[in-house]
Amino acid sequence: MFQKILIANRGEIALRVLRACKELGIQTVVVHSTADADAMHVRLADESVCIGPPPSRDSYLNIHQIVAACEITGADAVHPGYGFLSENAKFADILAAHNITFIGPSGDHIRIMGDKIEAKRTAKRLGIPVVPGSDGAVTDQKEARRIAAEIGYPVIIKASAGGGGRGMKVALTEADLEIALQTASTEAGAAFGDDAVYIEKYLEKPRHIEVQVFGDGFGRGVHFGERDCSLQRRHQKVWEEAPSPALNAEERARIGGICAKAIADLSYSGAGTIEFLYENGEFYFIEMNTRLQVEHPVTEAITGIDLVHEQIRVASGGGLSVKQEDIKFNGHAIECRINAEDPRTFTPSPGTITHFHTPGGLGIRVDSGVYSGYKIPPYYDSLIGKLIVHGRNRVECMMRLRRALDEFVVDGIKTTLPLFRDLVGNADIANGDYDIHWLEKYLAKED
Ligand code: ADP
Repeated sequence: MFQKILIANRGEIALRVLRACKELGIQTVVVHSTADADAMHVRLADESVCIGPPPSRDSYLNIHQIVAACEITGADAVHPGYGFLSENAKFADILAAHNITFIGPSGDHIRIMGDKIEAKRTAKRLGIPVVPGSDGAVTDQKEARRIAAEIGYPVIIKASAGGGGRGMKVALTEADLEIALQTASTEAGAAFGDDAVYIEKYLEKPRHIEVQVFGDGFGRGVHFGERDCSLQRRHQKVWEEAPSPALNAEERARIGGICAKAIADLSYSGAGTIEFLYENGEFYFIEMNTRLQVEHPVTEAITGIDLVHEQIRVASGGGLSVKQEDIKFNGHAIECRINAEDPRTFTPSPGTITHFHTPGGLGIRVDSGVYSGYKIPPYYDSLIGKLIVHGRNRVECMMRLRRALDEFVVDGIKTTLPLFRDLVGNADIANGDYDIHWLEKYLAKED
């Protein structure tokens, strides 16, 4: 087992990882920018190292400074959290070259899944169902027209190097195709320095369903069931739940089994999430994230398993603590992402939190790094906490969530809490009847 882990992140996830390390008796080092000197994870860590000024590229993305911090403190492993360097293959390779363990998969696995065309090809080869579309990059209009006619309109043009929903264009008919191809490719070139694009069938009313997987690094793979993250705004997840209200036990076992086998065949090591669009009973792979996800606590709530403990065990060579048959699903969990944003316009609302009171009681978890008097710096993303509620079934979970949201107090800044108070009372949400477009339509109506 590791003696000392360096946590290369900030905010709620840095604290989340720190808690897991403490439980396992592992010493902790955190790195932070000058803007985060007063953060909770800095206060609670055994050691902290200031690695630079507020902009992420000078601190949380500064590989040299982070490696230097490992060497100064003698850390033997790095947990990257999510975002920042968590899916940076070069970072994983550099750590390996310094004999420091990256708590995550190999640089090669990160690289494959970071290139969407390569990821899709790999998924297909491993028996994972994919969205019908081009087999690789599409460069000329004639080929694009032929593929689009074959799969049928509407189609979506996506950037191979894409991320964060950028570089995507929908073509409803052949008349839109030329311009969609051009704009997607130009946007991709500008945003990612790689203008390769590919074509897929555009699914009109899908749900976003993702499967939590783990590889033990010795050729075994397991799945921890799915999460439904269909409630999104601008491709950003807002509300996540497990299990999905749309799946039955047979579908869950089928897609879970396919994913676990793929992870085993890849000899993947650590946590991963295989993301699908789901429509009319069919799953279509869209991408794989090779890291811990923001919404992992809903899976922890229904399985009772600490996924960060498992990541640390696997990375240290100790394998998983569970086999597939040990993973049981119990009840229902929902996570609300609480952002420091206006609940209607979603403009960021940094500033000082004058009062912070979290709900409590059975089935309630709040993951947050903030406190009364905390000043939210304007440099980073606006997530200030996550409310995760568990109940024996979805109805009980929703009743508990409504009560927890009523108890939650954040004063001094605007937050997205009022949005969740509206959603929890909505009939479609109560029925679990929503797709990936539901939230945007709902917000447009409210305006
Ligand atoms: P990114 O990495 O940029 O987030 P994804 O491939 O994960 O890109 O897609 C992001 C979102 O775009 C999906 O959650 C979905 O809302 C939409 N999307 C992607 N592919 C399709 C598709 N084939 N049909 C319909 N919507 C899609």
